[in-house]
Amino acid sequence: MKPFAYERASSPKDAAAKAAKTPGAKFIAGGTNLLDLMKIGVEEPVHLIDVNGLKLDTIEATDDGGVRIGALVRNTELAADTRIRRDYPLLSRALLAGASGQLRNKATTAGNLLQRTRCPYFYDTNQPCNKRLPGSGCAAIGGFSRQHAIVGVSKSCIATHPSDMAVAMRALDATVETVRPDGSTRRIAIADFHTLPGTTPNVETVLAHGELITAVTLPRPVGGVQLYHKVRDRASYAFALVSVALILQPDGGGRVALGGVAHKPWRKSDADAALPKGAKAASDALLAGAETTHDNAFKVTLVERALAATLAEAKETSA
Ligand SMILES: Cc1cc2nc3c(=O)[nH]c(=O)nc-3n(C[C@H](O)[C@H](O)[C@H](O)COP(=O)(O)OP(=O)(O)OC[C@H]3O[C@@H](n4cnc5c(N)ncnc54)[C@H](O)[C@@H]3O)c2cc1C
Ligand code: SF4
Repeated sequence: MKPFAYERASSPKDAAAKAAKTPGAKFIAGGTNLLDLMKIGVEEPVHLIDVNGLKLDTIEATDDGGVRIGALVRNTELAADTRIRRDYPLLSRALLAGASGQLRNKATTAGNLLQRTRCPYFYDTNQPCNKRLPGSGCAAIGGFSRQHAIVGVSKSCIATHPSDMAVAMRALDATVETVRPDGSTRRIAIADFHTLPGTTPNVETVLAHGELITAVTLPRPVGGVQLYHKVRDRASYAFALVSVALILQPDGGGRVALGGVAHKPWRKSDADAALPKGAKAASDALLAGAETTHDNAFKVTLVERALAATLAEAKETSA
């Protein structure tokens, strides 16, 4: 590991200002992703700003009937919160499908949204990877690509976003709140928060350098049956090959988002509209224009079947 400076911030604005002053500075929250990447030389921040003491660790009701989840709320606490379990069970289920109990005790809301891809070539510093080293190439294209993306891909990168929580937040229309180095704040719809790889897969969100996530808000609860199904190679402690976040309303309408298929949580308005017609219609809409490789073409069928199973369970639950 390369030497780095470490300091604690005294307020969110102070954290953002401190990070903006130093090129290559990074925030550290639970450290469950960042420290792993630093140990293998994939991330080499020269300066770490610890945001753990910033009192961003509460879950509060908002004036419009939703909730504001502090950036430092741990995944365990969020999944167990009574309001989340009652009003946003999709989020609770997605969180509990991720990582392990020990990791969830450390992992934070903001850190989870910003975790890096699990593409094996990104982790192997002997391999070309445009995300790790822009312009070096992509070892996954033409390499082993079973886990990789099938929609929204580019010629530069076919990595997926690994978060389960973010897929639920996409279905729930979450908003990310930030503070910038000059103290100004902004709200970013989760749909616009993560980016597609394009020619700059090293850029993964719309955050500017030094911009700190302070909270994620959820709008008022939408009800319905809410399910999260994760298909993976092992029953636990594995990332999604494909995951389905579904909210099904009594009239057959609803919302669906996918994990494991793109560089960001994947949702399409025409897929939501197609839900009453069934899993095939919705998955066709979700995967329109899919570009698969020899290794990951199976994901197209897997999405359709995972969505069909999730829909069937939701209908049974609501009957
Ligand atoms: C073995 C293993 C298995 C896992 N399995 C799963 C899984 O199945 N599903 C899943 O979803 N996840 C899984 N994870 C990932 C885990 O959920 C993430 O590592 C965790 O959520 C990251 O949160 P953190 O607080 O530790 O982030 P950190 O490691 O502290 O930070 C991650 C990134 O976020 C940035 N950051 C942190 N806080 C802020 C902030 N407030 N504002 C701006 N930037 C910030 C950091 O600079 C860094 O770039 C797994 C991890 C491991 C190690
Ligand atoms: S898919 Fe993306 S992360 Fe993986 S090797 Fe290619 S550029 Fe790197």
